[in-house]
Amino acid sequence: MNKLFCDVLIFGAGIIGASLALRLSQSGIKVIIVDYKHPIPIKKKPHIRVAAINYASIEFLREINVWKKIPSDFCTPYHHLEVWEWSSAKVIFHAMSVGLSKMGYIVENNRLQLALWENFINFKTITLCCPSMLISMYYDGCDWRCILDNGVVIISRLLIGADGMHSQIRKKLGIGVIGWKYHQCCMLLTIETDKYKHGTLWQIFTPYGPIGFLPLYSHWGSLMWYNTPKRIQELQKLPIEMLEKEIESNFQKQLGNIKLHNMAVVPLIRQRAHEYVTTGGALVGDAACSLHPLAGQGINLGLRDVISLSQLLIHSRVFEERSSVSEVLISYQKSREYDSFLMQSCIDWLYVLFHNNCLPLKIARNITFMAVERSYYLKKQILKYALGIL
Ligand SMILES: Cc1cc2nc3c(=O)[nH]c(=O)nc-3n(C[C@H](O)[C@H](O)[C@H](O)COP(=O)(O)OP(=O)(O)OC[C@H]3O[C@@H](n4cnc5c(N)ncnc54)[C@H](O)[C@@H]3O)c2cc1C
Repeated sequence: MNKLFCDVLIFGAGIIGASLALRLSQSGIKVIIVDYKHPIPIKKKPHIRVAAINYASIEFLREINVWKKIPSDFCTPYHHLEVWEWSSAKVIFHAMSVGLSKMGYIVENNRLQLALWENFINFKTITLCCPSMLISMYYDGCDWRCILDNGVVIISRLLIGADGMHSQIRKKLGIGVIGWKYHQCCMLLTIETDKYKHGTLWQIFTPYGPIGFLPLYSHWGSLMWYNTPKRIQELQKLPIEMLEKEIESNFQKQLGNIKLHNMAVVPLIRQRAHEYVTTGGALVGDAACSLHPLAGQGINLGLRDVISLSQLLIHSRVFEERSSVSEVLISYQKSREYDSFLMQSCIDWLYVLFHNNCLPLKIARNITFMAVERSYYLKKQILKYALGIL
């Protein structure tokens, strides 16, 4: 029987779990990270899943020496963000207004995950077990004993669930969730466009859901079309040429002529774990809290979990001194409660405010947009919050 020992055992080597593994091992903490699948390989065309990563997250990725692994040709900086419902009531955010040249970058999720995995080899303190799955786990009050499907037994002081929204670890740790499905689905569309505004992200709010555009490298772009599940199903059934026409007729002004290359539909779920921690275990990323993606904040919030938990573990020296992790875990829970609650509430508030066709409310929200656009201070504070620098 192959027996491995570590300080921290992480299940889930997505962007969040892999970032935590790197940050901890940089400080000499012994980490084993388990995932049941390898990242999706990079292809010629951009992958369908892309994300806007904000300024604060990029700074953290630089700190753990990951950002430089992504060739600059494949990460697209953005410095403008335009949002509107009525075009006469646009809010335009500029990176310059908060003293930055960029708000962040847009990158394919698999490219970022692969860059994180590539860095694992630089650390003797990280062991990657992939593809592997958990068979059983047992806590003796001091250490976890986990058995994987390949027969490997792992003994660890701390267990982390970074295995995403449908976390198996969260269930096994006995942590419940509160959540619901939004009455919206998201259609992701990878397109080539002949009208490309470099560095500008935009989002149009409609009563059925927002439509956002993330510019990628070259003339590629990612359109995120949110609507009722019924409407998204109708769009999904259209032959490709008709769907292209539908996109062009709706967004001709913004995108010009387009060519559709890839499409996927994702259901939207809001979820929040009752607790971020339990005896000897903790959750990070989507396993702890998943959001509606309309504000593109899931990875940013998950990386803040990583920053908080890693700082607390490193500074407490619990592994060197073999002292209890309980206090560190309680501090981690406290440090994350307010941030995740506030972010989820802001996003839900936006969802409820815009997800209806009531005329007085429509007028009110567009007046609010006009007021925000005219208030330099308010706009600056909103942007700072979105970029993680407030
Ligand atoms: C349409 C859409 C657009 C988005 N856009 C943005 C954006 O622009 N900006 C942003 O910041 N966020 C965005 N997000 C949110 C972001 O994608 C998520 O918050 C983020 O991917 C969560 O990362 P994670 O590592 O916690 O979970 P995941 O990405 O789900 O990774 C979980 C990992 O765990 C592994 N795993 C799962 N189960 C097991 C198991 N039992 N054993 C071992 N391994 C397991 C999986 O293989 C995977 O590698 C968006 C989300 C959606 C749906």
